[in-house]
Amino acid sequence: MTSQQQMNTGVFPTWCPGCGDFSILAALKNALIKLDRPIEQYAIAYGIGCHGHMANFLNAYNFEGLHGRPLPVAEGIKLANRDLNVIAVSGDGDAYGEGIAHFMHVMRRNIDITYIVHNNMVYGLTTGQASPTSPKGFRSKSTPEGVIEHPVNPVALAITQGATFVARGFAGDPAHLAELIIKGIEHRGFTFIDVLQPCVTFNKANTYQWYRERVYKLDEKGHNASDRMEALKKAFEPDKLPIGIFYQEEAKTYEEQTPTQTPLVKEPLETDIKELMESFK
Ligand code: SF4
Ligand code: MG
Repeated sequence: MTSQQQMNTGVFPTWCPGCGDFSILAALKNALIKLDRPIEQYAIAYGIGCHGHMANFLNAYNFEGLHGRPLPVAEGIKLANRDLNVIAVSGDGDAYGEGIAHFMHVMRRNIDITYIVHNNMVYGLTTGQASPTSPKGFRSKSTPEGVIEHPVNPVALAITQGATFVARGFAGDPAHLAELIIKGIEHRGFTFIDVLQPCVTFNKANTYQWYRERVYKLDEKGHNASDRMEALKKAFEPDKLPIGIFYQEEAKTYEEQTPTQTPLVKEPLETDIKELMESFK
């Protein structure tokens, strides 16, 4: 029901040649084609960053919001119309810097949305400052002597904060990433997918080659995704970057626990505001 043609906007992506964003876009499109749901059933919220340009290249109901704020927008959309498939997209700066508070609280709620983060360990759009996931020692325009702080570990954070689907993908393996996105959208509850994405222009340390030397697939190593402690160990595995589903559990969603609230979309369009206006007199 959703074709490649339907999703094309006719605008050719302006990302730098070789950027990992291209394959994340391709993986998302392939996932939506395979899921075979009408494209108008998707709403996608973006933050600010190179990832946000995707709103111009993917023909869906898109909302490009403020820096770090795609999650509250996505949550609002989901609560207003629970029949929609809602996706939020961020970059690492957007998600784990400006938007970190939203990230923490959405995981406590288990609201049924899918969150995809383009994690290139740098602020790309603003031309190369250290981000919350930049490794210790990373030299950038904002850290000429190298980053002093430890990087945020988004996967470990999600496992410990109650996310019910926690995964990591790699932009260098778009077929595997598309499968993760399909499983994530099919999951009932909050889905988090951190995507390792080379920024070929402003991160010369974490290249495709650098990732390929560290990435391996969890499901090929017999990982048990229902074991939270095993998932956490994998999230802290030194010198390796496992990809796949770290942790998944079934739990009640936020929406299921608020059954008395009528979604806005089901409220009558005409409301008599006369009484309300009278109250201001
Ligand atoms: Fe991609 Fe980096 Fe270029 Fe942004 S600056 S489009 S993240 S390569
Ligand atoms: Mg970034």
